[in-house]
Amino acid sequence: MDCAFSYAFICFLLPIIIMDIIHLLPDSVANQIAAGEVVQRPASCLKELVENSLDAGASRIQILVRDAGRTLLQIIDDGSGMSETDVRMAFERHATSKIREAADLFTLHTMGFRGEALASICAVAHVDVQTRRKEDEVGTRLEIAGSQVMRQEPCQCPVGTNIRVRNLFYNVPARRKFLKTDQTELRNLLTEFYHIALVYPKVQFTFVSNDEILMELPAGSEKQRIEQIFGKNSSKSFTGQLVDIKSDTEMVSIYGFVGKPEMAGKNAQQYFFVNGRFMRHPYFHKAVLTAYAGMLPNDYSPSYFIYFNINPSSIDVNIHPTKTEIKFADEQAIFQILMATIRESLGKFNVGPSIDFDRQGEIEMPIPSQNGTTTMPKVTCDPTYNPFRTSSKTYTPSGWDKLYGPLSSQDTHSASVVRSESPMDSKTDMEQEQMLFEGNVTDVSVWQYASRYLLLPVKGGILFVDQRRAHISVLYQQFLAQIAEHKGAMQQLLFPEELALSIDEMKLMQTMLNDLRAVGFDLEQISKQAFSISGVPALLGGENAVSVLKEILHNVLETGASVGQQWQKSIALALASSAAMPYGRALAEDAQRQLLSDWLALPACKLTPDGKKVAFVMTDDEIARKL
Ligand code: ADP
Ligand code: MG
Repeated sequence: MDCAFSYAFICFLLPIIIMDIIHLLPDSVANQIAAGEVVQRPASCLKELVENSLDAGASRIQILVRDAGRTLLQIIDDGSGMSETDVRMAFERHATSKIREAADLFTLHTMGFRGEALASICAVAHVDVQTRRKEDEVGTRLEIAGSQVMRQEPCQCPVGTNIRVRNLFYNVPARRKFLKTDQTELRNLLTEFYHIALVYPKVQFTFVSNDEILMELPAGSEKQRIEQIFGKNSSKSFTGQLVDIKSDTEMVSIYGFVGKPEMAGKNAQQYFFVNGRFMRHPYFHKAVLTAYAGMLPNDYSPSYFIYFNINPSSIDVNIHPTKTEIKFADEQAIFQILMATIRESLGKFNVGPSIDFDRQGEIEMPIPSQNGTTTMPKVTCDPTYNPFRTSSKTYTPSGWDKLYGPLSSQDTHSASVVRSESPMDSKTDMEQEQMLFEGNVTDVSVWQYASRYLLLPVKGGILFVDQRRAHISVLYQQFLAQIAEHKGAMQQLLFPEELALSIDEMKLMQTMLNDLRAVGFDLEQISKQAFSISGVPALLGGENAVSVLKEILHNVLETGASVGQQWQKSIALALASSAAMPYGRALAEDAQRQLLSDWLALPACKLTPDGKKVAFVMTDDEIARKL
């Protein structure tokens, strides 16, 4: 028996074991692997397909999605169409009509060139395409699934291409699971769509989701396109609020629009495009901010839509299809040109001085005016402002209303500080923070400086606390608790306010409604793109309802938060920032103590929930060294 086994081993198994082991992967597998890079989610698929339509010279593109692209993503264009042979070739790997040789990479005028997209998409979905060129009598219909051609036949169809991608990732369960909620994926689709629609204003676009027309964009100019997308349904319309910028140099040509400073906010729209392609560029973003220096309150950001045209040989052309960061050869020079161009345009239009700083009341920066002199912005302060103004039936957190008593108020001292035995000056930041945690504020002197900082002597030094940031941190915890416990008290508004929303804001609003109601908002949908606000969280006061809600939506959209816990944090932070006391508020001594002790009681007090430093210690040593 043993002998028979050895014989079998030598004759049959050994050759198999020592055989060469490398082989080429079948196309379907290679394509599926490549698809992992090119097609990560419905939005990347949309991008590739719409770019193909644009490369085919389409003047009208319809996008239809079902279940945020999961079930169906259909793009219909009136572009060049494909011949019977070309449409078959188009789904092969590295098949493209856009470049022939490496040198073509440096003179690219198309969005695509890698010949990877269709091959990747058909590897992970059921694809059905109908296409006809204008010189052909009949078109071609081709069906492919998992890279296998299922059917190819002549068909009657209009000139152009109509491609349907169904059941994306039907054969890649891991990818399917990786997709986020329909709301998030639809938002991603819209974001990708905006990136393209903003650069092709001459092309007419329609975007339909689950049979509902979300966007209908007629052909027009860039400015009109911006207004079509962001103007109509947003509470901040761009109409009349954009300043043109333009600069032509040998190195680069820049044109576009920047928002007037008075319409800057926390939810600014910021877009850079290079040679017709959306890009992110943190360094150039800085150039824009530098141009606005001194014109905007802290945390406020300008809107901009800036289009660069540059010789393709000066940028990295072989950009990965999913990457939006682009390297320029002369970034520093372009930084300067961009900044100067924006400065000049803002100056020319004399925009600036009518900025409304009312909301935060915390900026006192000079604004350069047209004639070169410097003027101070008008800072309006509402002396009757009280973030804790409540009606009788509303909830007031204990002790907080006392913070706003007159300076002379002599209420009882409730806070205390433990005196640590070890000297501060040899301690690290972390140890210092821990020391604060151990502490209780007791009968020590506290001061307020510049209506902005609270000073508290601690062993070995003085603690400087940013009063507004400390207050934001405290309120943040309170709002989070209210959401978790569904205990947010509401204050009815005398007159309900209308909140007009864009499509993606609307979708998000609907998913967040429960949490917003939990914290005290009374909201009702009144039309396809508007809600009415009849009540607001009691801690908030009435004035900021629309802008706070906008900010919450914007933050969640921006961070892509897709689960309740993440957006609850956004809600709490936006409410806390809005309800927190502005700088410039004089606090009574007991109010200072109350704020300090509530702040010190927080689980992590050193940073605000959005990561800003709240306090630092100036040690005795540091003070001594200065004298
Ligand atoms: P790439 O766009 O990089 O060339 P794709 O895989 O996206 O690669 O497309 C392959 C080819 O199929 C394109 O080069 C183009 O010739 C053709 N094609 C794709 N989509 C369309 C369309 N909507 N209209 C006309 N031709 C198309
Ligand atoms: Mg392509």
